[in-house]
Amino acid sequence: MAKCLSMNRRQTIPQHLRYTVNDFNSQFPDDDSCLEFLKEQRFPNGITYCEKCQKERKHHRVTGRPAYACDYCGSMVSPMAGTIFEKSSTSLRLWFYAMYLMGSTRCGISAKQIQRETGVTYKTAWRMFKQIRSLLNEPDLKLDSQSVEMDESYFGARRKRGNKRGRPSRHDSSKTCVVGVVERKGKTSVATGKGRVIATVATDATRQTLHGIAKERILPESTIFTDEYFSYNGLDKQGYTHKRINHSAGVYVMGDIHTNTIEGFWSLVKRGVSGVYHSVSRKYLQTYLDEYSFRYNRRDQGNLIFTSILQRVCERAV
Ligand SMILES: [Zn+2]
Repeated sequence: MAKCLSMNRRQTIPQHLRYTVNDFNSQFPDDDSCLEFLKEQRFPNGITYCEKCQKERKHHRVTGRPAYACDYCGSMVSPMAGTIFEKSSTSLRLWFYAMYLMGSTRCGISAKQIQRETGVTYKTAWRMFKQIRSLLNEPDLKLDSQSVEMDESYFGARRKRGNKRGRPSRHDSSKTCVVGVVERKGKTSVATGKGRVIATVATDATRQTLHGIAKERILPESTIFTDEYFSYNGLDKQGYTHKRINHSAGVYVMGDIHTNTIEGFWSLVKRGVSGVYHSVSRKYLQTYLDEYSFRYNRRDQGNLIFTSILQRVCERAV
């Protein structure tokens, strides 16, 4: 945690990507401003159609309720319908603030902190973060860089047995295997072309599992960099160029052959999970990975990651 804070202090976010807590407070002073924002996101041209009248109708804001009503028949439309806010009794502004906090940290934010800052119960804070996190996955993301690093990492209780690289023995069920793939300089990642990451909780680290993830996420004919672990054997027969570094022999970089990018991501997540979240159960691990990946993949957006989270909430409304 301390490491993270000092890193943030050194980080300078360019002016146009800065979005401070003051900016937040002036853009969203109350629930009404949040509702108006939500309406503009979900109905860019305004609410123009009434389902009940089956006609174009003007709508007006209903006093005292988070809704807009048809001028003619009074039928109501809520911009919160279908979103994670819909059935929540927590104020919309608090939801926005939780998203703001989640977007403005590199290391993650704990439910404890929002509880301290805003006075909501721990349970409410925890539930809000859980629901926001649940929207941050990228099921269709494919890495389009020609160079991709791939590695597995193990999360969970302290390792009892296993080899030097931290791979637990096959029978150690206290550890959860996570498989990561990361681009080196992706073409389409936002703005600066920094590479994107995908981290997936896996049932095991067998050849079948690892090859399956590669196939699903990495374009054919890319170069995949891995270590010497035997489950990566045969990637070259799947149409990839496969380059490996021999970690067990103490070699970590050989020319362009290394897995430092993905290792950097693992240490970011592990610092956060142990420092901020203390420990994360297997059940929720994927959503935490999604949160870290979402931020990592937008790290050149500065504090505007908040806006991306808001957008995501609207995109995923049902
Ligand atoms: Zn109507």
